[in-house]
Amino acid sequence: MAQLSPLLKQATPVVVDHGEGACLYDVEGRRHLDFTAGIGVTSTGHCHPKVVAAAREQIGKLIHGQYTTVMHRPLLELVERLGEVLPAGLDSLFFANSGSEAVEAALRLSRQATRRPNVIVFQGGFHGRTVAAATMTTSGTRFSAGFSPLMGGVHVAPFPYAYHYGWDEQTATRFALRELDYLFATVSAPGETAAFFVEPVLGEGGYVPANTEFLTGLRERADRHGILLVVDEIQTGFGRTGKYWGHRHFGVHPDVVLIAKGLASGFPLSGIAASAELMAKAFPGSQGGTYGGNAVSCAAALATLDVIEEEDLVANAAARGGQLLEGARLIGDKTPEIGDVRGLGLMVGSEFTTADGEPATALAQAAQQEAARRGLLMLTCGAYSNVVRMIPPLVVTAEQVDEALGLWSETVAAVTGNPTS
Ligand code: PMP
Repeated sequence: MAQLSPLLKQATPVVVDHGEGACLYDVEGRRHLDFTAGIGVTSTGHCHPKVVAAAREQIGKLIHGQYTTVMHRPLLELVERLGEVLPAGLDSLFFANSGSEAVEAALRLSRQATRRPNVIVFQGGFHGRTVAAATMTTSGTRFSAGFSPLMGGVHVAPFPYAYHYGWDEQTATRFALRELDYLFATVSAPGETAAFFVEPVLGEGGYVPANTEFLTGLRERADRHGILLVVDEIQTGFGRTGKYWGHRHFGVHPDVVLIAKGLASGFPLSGIAASAELMAKAFPGSQGGTYGGNAVSCAAALATLDVIEEEDLVANAAARGGQLLEGARLIGDKTPEIGDVRGLGLMVGSEFTTADGEPATALAQAAQQEAARRGLLMLTCGAYSNVVRMIPPLVVTAEQVDEALGLWSETVAAVTGNPTS
């Protein structure tokens, strides 16, 4: 008899039968609040009727039409629709299937367009698991363990993770930018640097929002030295943070935006957006793939974009995100083992630490497991896996947020022994 490989290790024992909105129902009929959303994917909720209908209709018409041979209507329409929501001027699109592939596509484009070898990534960043994307990932050594040598030309600068440094935001930001300049002077001269790859909120790295001074500092340096600013919106895009794009909180204009996850409500689809002028600098034949821009995924993405607009999900993410952050902070304030609660929109993390500020990984894991037993599904993140994160679908209701906060409060009280209410 075949068995699951250890590679398919689950964070919870739940075997799902079906999903609806922000809830999952297991094979025994039990309801779970899904504050993972398939790692930030099912933004419109599980099996939104409009997404289901669009995919069903498309399956009956055309499943796969490879774009090097034929073009199809869902892809053409999706390009047009994305043009309405993407930052001005980023009107040229390329599609792939996963976030990692989008990262790789942008890496190739950056090197080809600038003819420079290096990229700078930011500590705690997560960009994926293909070899290049794993090399660019610094949110934990586990992501690139055991398959060295990794790719060359990747250099790491600090991210303003103020809580980790024990500094205020401004000090952490000045430090990060000063270190970046030092990196330019010591290991990757600006003229050798093709691109910065940065997340507006460190996702897998611990739910740490960037800030205006930091991203503006990157933009200024990018402009001064002809470096491309690639913003990885794979986890933060499509309303997740309470604005359509995470970087919109921080007043910067990117050169390249990476999209995936929330784009197609669970159907595999990713992409990169850049100006037509920049995209034209990709070398012919070096970008592509059999499945990118799949017709059913594109149809699901079109329906997803409609739902985001029609149901005002960006505003809902802002409102419910505020409610969630405030509630999680109240619980954190009463819990000495929770050192920091932070986030942006519907990305909220609670960082577990010991009395002297060391990561309390086992406690965070215990809390995640205990919450799952009580019907609240969440994941951990951070280099030490000591941050419990909440990332519900954007359709989550005020009542569901309250319910989740109630379960979280009980969970934290149970695993720490501190009263939280
Ligand atoms: N970038 C970011 C910011 C991500 O959060 C992820 C996935 N967690 C990726 C890239 C990689 O995406 P995928 O797993 O689809 O390759």
